[in-house]
Amino acid sequence: MGRSHLIKPVLGNNYPVISHGKGIYLYDKEGNQYIDGSSGAITANIGHGVHEIAEAMWNQAKHVSFVYRSQFTSDAAEQLAEKLANYAPGDLNSVFFVNSGSEATETALKVAIQYFQEQGIVTKTKVISRWTSYHGITLGALSMSGHPLRRQRFTSLLEDFPAAPAPYCYQCPLNETYPGCGVKCADDLENIIQTLGPDQIAAFIAEPVIGASGGAIVPPDEYFKKIRAVCDKYNILLIADEVMTGMGRTGKMFAMEHWNVIPDIIALGKGMSAGYTPMAATIVSDRIMDVIEAGTKVVMSGHTFSANPQSAAVCLAVIEFMEKYKLQENAAAMGEYLVNHLQRLQWKYPLIGDVRGKGLLCGIEFVKDPITREPFELSSKVVDRLLSICFTKGLLVYPAVGGVTGFSGDSILVSPPLTVTKEQISDMVDILDQSISELTTQLIT
Ligand code: PLP
Repeated sequence: MGRSHLIKPVLGNNYPVISHGKGIYLYDKEGNQYIDGSSGAITANIGHGVHEIAEAMWNQAKHVSFVYRSQFTSDAAEQLAEKLANYAPGDLNSVFFVNSGSEATETALKVAIQYFQEQGIVTKTKVISRWTSYHGITLGALSMSGHPLRRQRFTSLLEDFPAAPAPYCYQCPLNETYPGCGVKCADDLENIIQTLGPDQIAAFIAEPVIGASGGAIVPPDEYFKKIRAVCDKYNILLIADEVMTGMGRTGKMFAMEHWNVIPDIIALGKGMSAGYTPMAATIVSDRIMDVIEAGTKVVMSGHTFSANPQSAAVCLAVIEFMEKYKLQENAAAMGEYLVNHLQRLQWKYPLIGDVRGKGLLCGIEFVKDPITREPFELSSKVVDRLLSICFTKGLLVYPAVGGVTGFSGDSILVSPPLTVTKEQISDMVDILDQSISELTTQLIT
């Protein structure tokens, strides 16, 4: 048989062909049912097959789907921007639409640099990020990502941005223990700024809860308050990458609300459209917009599909659906329920080192030894094996590996749509229980 014309994530793998989806369930063409325990890539926040969204698509498409943003604005894009600005904290009142999370973080990077350039400060061109982070796959976004596996082939093309240690208490990169450490990882940001010189640094970027590269790593409560203070001290912008955490996923509209910290820029994606259309956004503060408006008046970024009315109408309908069914509140309540259930598995299986999360962004980290927290060797492929066992039992979970230098960092995300019920969580956890039992046997033999 010849090679498929579609380039898939792993060439030669046999992927099932999707037929349809309903709520938290997906069905392939052979009639197999899967529980979408990862909302795809933590994206399908309102579940699959929602008719209201299909209607909103048609209602917009029958008028106009696309206009070029340099020629027209649209009611849908204006309303969506207003809605997001109303939800965003502080003076984050202006929205730039893009098509993916990578573009959202890369736009944030460009806006930060432009903000200083407009004031005649041309040296502030670096963005500090953290090891154990993922901000996207395009070269600017990847330059900011502390994700060795995804960076490795392109390092020569990436900007040499500095990285601070992540607030990864379970495997502290500074070998400290919380709370005795005094959240040293946040102080380290200040050390890096002082070493490089604050005149070089435009921004610090962070995921409020680390997702793809770490498996729902929640920082200590003091962390972001300290980070905000350091950024303010050195005139450095704080970018919250809420691509995964935003739009209610963690039980708040934006995860930074958990700590009452207001960033200068927020990057959004994934749950904003809940997967019904590719759309993402960069939300910018008045402080920044005032400077750009008084200067060149043009935010130096943009894509053909930016702010297209078709996608904007879909995102509006997604947010209305979230409001109608109080999905943010459900995420908070069901997240607690899920973590409690996962903690029961932790008692049962020594290879579960840590269970953590905020709202419905939940993670499990697997280790060789739960006492010493010694990780598995890369060759053990613990997460790959678990994913495939779960898959054959009809459960989808998300791999969160590769963010840490030197070991695999074997974590998964368990993050179903925000519509999930207690019964559905019990079903998911039952399958996980059976799957981890099977994995344990495989690892012993
Ligand atoms: N930022 C974060 C926190 C993400 O988790 C991701 C994707 O996983 C991205 C950015 C990149 O988003 P996209 O894949 O839509 O480009």
